Amino acid sequence: MLLKSLIKNIEAKYPLNLAYDWDNVGLLVGDFNSDIKKVLVVLEANERVIDEAIENNIDLIITHHPFIFKKMNKINTSDLKGRLIHKLIKNDIALYSMHTNFDIAFDGLNDYFMELMGFEDCKVLEVTNNEVLYKLAVYVPETHIDKVKNALGKAGAGHIGNYSHCSFTSRGEGNFMPLEGTNPFIGTKGEIECVKEVKIETIVPQKILGGVLSSMINAHPYEEVAYDLYKLENKGNSVGLGRVTKLKEKISLKDLSNSIKEKLNMKHIRVVGSLDTTISKIALVTGSGADMVKKAQRSGCEVIITGDVKYHDAQDAIDMGMCIIDCGHFETEDIFKDVMKRFLDDIHDIEVLKSNIDLNPFKIV
Ligand SMILES: [Zn+2]
Repeated sequence: MLLKSLIKNIEAKYPLNLAYDWDNVGLLVGDFNSDIKKVLVVLEANERVIDEAIENNIDLIITHHPFIFKKMNKINTSDLKGRLIHKLIKNDIALYSMHTNFDIAFDGLNDYFMELMGFEDCKVLEVTNNEVLYKLAVYVPETHIDKVKNALGKAGAGHIGNYSHCSFTSRGEGNFMPLEGTNPFIGTKGEIECVKEVKIETIVPQKILGGVLSSMINAHPYEEVAYDLYKLENKGNSVGLGRVTKLKEKISLKDLSNSIKEKLNMKHIRVVGSLDTTISKIALVTGSGADMVKKAQRSGCEVIITGDVKYHDAQDAIDMGMCIIDCGHFETEDIFKDVMKRFLDDIHDIEVLKSNIDLNPFKIV
């Protein structure tokens, strides 16, 4: 499939605008019009990963950590990054990165970690954005009310809380005159027509707006569909960094740590705080989240699960009465390749491989 079509699929679920301003996400190397058959998913790309991609005839590498992050003034082979970019282009391999947008998005890295641990009913720890909502009003002849309503509902319009297919209808008369060059479903060219119509109003989140409009137009019988679209002040679902959840049953810090260790398949895990502390609510920030300890405590959590915790972060947490489970930056994020493979496997016409390169820079001896 064309790279631009694949990217459209990815960004419908993980939009680039969710990323922090300082981040660098999206297609970092490549041609939007290239044909993609094989994709390699991996936490980050270094020379070993690029060689693995070449050996496996990969067309696209998808990473979590941005492959290009710092500003570059030259791309040439005397510099490590320049050499790698050169190697990718010479071997016709594109590279796409999804970083904080993937941390923040629903069903991204943080949600997947919580799912893996078996934690449910997760909320956002730090809200960064609220989903933009639109009101859609469409005018439909009485014969096609159900068809259009069903198409809107099926495309995801009209979701309010746990209710789907929400809409409001009001009856009235539509007036129009078909001009030369038209092929009207109702009416005659050059004559004003008055038709009993229904106005269907519903709510649509921005991320599915394109799909909802095309479903509506396909289901509507008119050649020219009359509809209004208003941007709303109402706030949609919150998105943001990190997750919190209240446990169904309280657990000790020791048992929680052991359970995480087992699920992440780790031999050792670093824990800050008294091991017999009772934990009822937990926070998670994949990667580096030591700066979110206070935020987690203010959210009522007794522990934060994260990586990259420094000595003084740990000392401060003890003084605050907070616990930390430091699983490691690599260990909380290497699952990127699992969640991305699961997502991409639903897209036909591409083969998806997980990288076999061990990218953990730390070894325990
Ligand atoms: Zn990271």
